[in-house]
Amino acid sequence: MDTHGRILIVEDEEKIARFLELELTHEGYEVGKAADGRSALDMALASTWDLILLDVMLPQLNGLEVLRRVRRESDVPVILLTARDAVMDKVSGLDAGANDYITKPFAIEELLARIRVILRTRPVRPAAGQGGTVAGQEGGATLASAAPGAPGAGTSASPVSASASSVAADKGVLRVGQVTLDPSRRLVHVGETPVELTMREFEVLRVLMENKDIVLSREKIANLACGYDYMGETNIVDVYVRHLRAKIDDRFGIKLVSTVRGVGYVVREG
Ligand code: CA
Repeated sequence: MDTHGRILIVEDEEKIARFLELELTHEGYEVGKAADGRSALDMALASTWDLILLDVMLPQLNGLEVLRRVRRESDVPVILLTARDAVMDKVSGLDAGANDYITKPFAIEELLARIRVILRTRPVRPAAGQGGTVAGQEGGATLASAAPGAPGAGTSASPVSASASSVAADKGVLRVGQVTLDPSRRLVHVGETPVELTMREFEVLRVLMENKDIVLSREKIANLACGYDYMGETNIVDVYVRHLRAKIDDRFGIKLVSTVRGVGYVVREG
């Protein structure tokens, strides 16, 4: 294989930008760099990228503004790089259409893992033509993929030809009411209908469903879902729960995630 994908790095701190460039190049990605919001926007729209790493605090145009403008024309996956205490940035960023965010300072392994997940779960890019997807070797399952066995799923390593209902019979699949979650294939269905979730939404739901009927604190959810230190940022869990409710509870008219005031959240049967 030639390249794992094209990633645009938008970061005004030269040391971080250089570090990211070295690491990503080493991992087999082709990278471009922009050091301010204006050139980031130009570069983002002038070329086809598989993913954009977007710093929030940037000269000329901030990252959120860049993201909003990019979103008018493109659904390229975006991971925001945010400052540690800027919870509002994260909320605004997710609302503005970011796929994920990572807090500085971050561990490079964490960032690389999230990049892989996003590229792996990325649906086929229509504009790029056949074979345009950047699928990881671990399998190319998409979160909201169309029919299994469709051309887009051809890169998947797993010989799965199951329908949504038989998926639920697979080992390890979590089920609460009509909602099924397949951790290994990263699929969520309500009944037969696939639900598209971001990586973090999926992880939060997985943690809640694994602990069905147990009330979990925000901190517990953040730690289990994110696997690293979320000190002082646990209200981000509220954001993901809000997104899950919009995508599942509201859309399908069911009550999946309950708030336990002063404690946290729980998923209960029925
Ligand atoms: Ca910056």
